[in-house]
Amino acid sequence: MNVGLGHDEPVTDRDLVISACRSECSWSETADRLDGERLFACEACGSEWVRSQPWTPVDWEGYVPDAVQSERARGPGPS
Ligand SMILES: [Zn+2]
Repeated sequence: MNVGLGHDEPVTDRDLVISACRSECSWSETADRLDGERLFACEACGSEWVRSQPWTPVDWEGYVPDAVQSERARGPGPS
């Protein structure tokens, strides 16, 4: 594999899955980590989220899940 990025930053295992969320979105923390961050996933559409993402997941009811809010409150950087 020839990456050729020219720097030593760690490579993320994979990209997040971002799907068009539907009306039954339900976010929860998973047991997985991505780049040292807790990985959250939507059970309905399969989208994934970590704290470093510029957007914030919202449940189908229109509120940010408690688990996501507390993860946001932890601030940037790996856990
Ligand atoms: Zn969703």
